[in-house]
Amino acid sequence: MGKICVTMNEFELIAQYFERPARAGGPVRLGVGDDCALLDVPSGETLAISTDMLVEGRHFFEGTDPEALGHKALAVNLSDLAAMGAAPLGFSLALALPAADAGWLEAFARGLFALADAHGVQLIGGDTTKGPLNICITVYGSLPPQAALRRDGARAGDDIWVSGTLGDARLGLEALQGKRLLDRTLLRPASGKLHRPEPRVGLGLALRGVAHSAIDVSDGLMGDLAHILERSRVGAVIDADALPCGEALSAQETAVRRAFALNGGDDYELCFTAAPADAAAVRSAAQAVGVHVTRIGTIVDGEGLRATDGSGQALEIAAHSFDHFSG
Ligand code: ADP
Ligand code: MG
Repeated sequence: MGKICVTMNEFELIAQYFERPARAGGPVRLGVGDDCALLDVPSGETLAISTDMLVEGRHFFEGTDPEALGHKALAVNLSDLAAMGAAPLGFSLALALPAADAGWLEAFARGLFALADAHGVQLIGGDTTKGPLNICITVYGSLPPQAALRRDGARAGDDIWVSGTLGDARLGLEALQGKRLLDRTLLRPASGKLHRPEPRVGLGLALRGVAHSAIDVSDGLMGDLAHILERSRVGAVIDADALPCGEALSAQETAVRRAFALNGGDDYELCFTAAPADAAAVRSAAQAVGVHVTRIGTIVDGEGLRATDGSGQALEIAAHSFDHFSG
C-alpha cells in the first residue's frame, strides 16, 4: 500500500494511535503489527463480515468532529453485524489521511475506541495511507449459521418492527446544512442521532431465533424495508403514524414527521420481522437489552410496500431511499 509521507512516519502513527495492548482471553490471537491478524471463530460458528466506508464530503462534512467520526465509522459497521444477529469479534481500519494531524488522530481514536470498548471489540489491523480523508472499517463477527437474521426470511403474516426512533438524524442533518431551523434544545438530540448512532448489537443477538428477517436502517426505512421485501418475495403495509419518531422530529408538523420517519436515513435502527405469535418474545428480547421496539406493520403476500395513516387510509409517499448513484 502507498506510504504516508509526513513528519511522523506511518509506523509511528499506527503504534501511537491504533496499536493497543492485546487483551487476553478474547478471540484475537494476534492483532496489529504482523502481516495478518489472527482471529479465532467460536467452534461451530460461521464468520460474518461487513465493510462500510465514510468519505469526507460525501458521508460527512469537512471539519466534522473527529471524535464523532471515530464513533460513527465503527457504529455503522457494528450496525451491520447487529442486523445479521452476529456477535462482534474484531475490526480492521483502512484510513486515508491528508496529513498526520496529532489532534485529529487523538480525537478520532478516542471516539473509535470508546465505542469499541463498549462492545468489547478490538482493532486487529488495517492500512494507513496519505490521501483525501477516507475511513473504511471492516467488522468481523460470528454466529451459528442457522441463527443469521437474513433479508430473505420474511413471511406473509409477519409483524414488522423497528427499534428505537427514526428521523432525528435527517432532521439534524438538515439543520446543520441550514435547510431547517431547529431550536437548540431539539438540535442536541437530533445531531446526537446523526453523529453518534448506537448500533443495536445486543438487540440483534437477542432476536436470534425470534426474528425471521432483519436489516439496519441506514438509507431510510422505506428503502431498507424494500430490500427485505425483494429478497423475501413478499409485500408490506406499514402505518406511517405508528412510526416511532425521535424527540426532535416529534415536535415537527405531520408531513415532515411522516416523511423523515419513512425516508430520513442514517438512523441505524433495526427493522425486523417476526411471527405475530412471537410478539411477546420480541418485546421481552428487546426489554432484556433495554431497547424500545415498535410494531409498525405487516408483511403480506404479493409485492410492494404501502404506507397508510393511522386510520388505514393509503398515503402517497414514495420511497426516496438514499442512493449514491441516482438523483
Ligand atoms: P503491510 O505492508 O504488510 O500491509 P502495513 O505496513 O500496512 O503492513 O501495516 C503494518 C501493521 O499495522 C499491520 O499489522 C497492519 O494491520 C497494521 N495497521 C496499518 N494501518 C492500521 C490502522 N489504521 N489501524 C490499525 N492497524 C493498522
Ligand atoms: Mg498495508
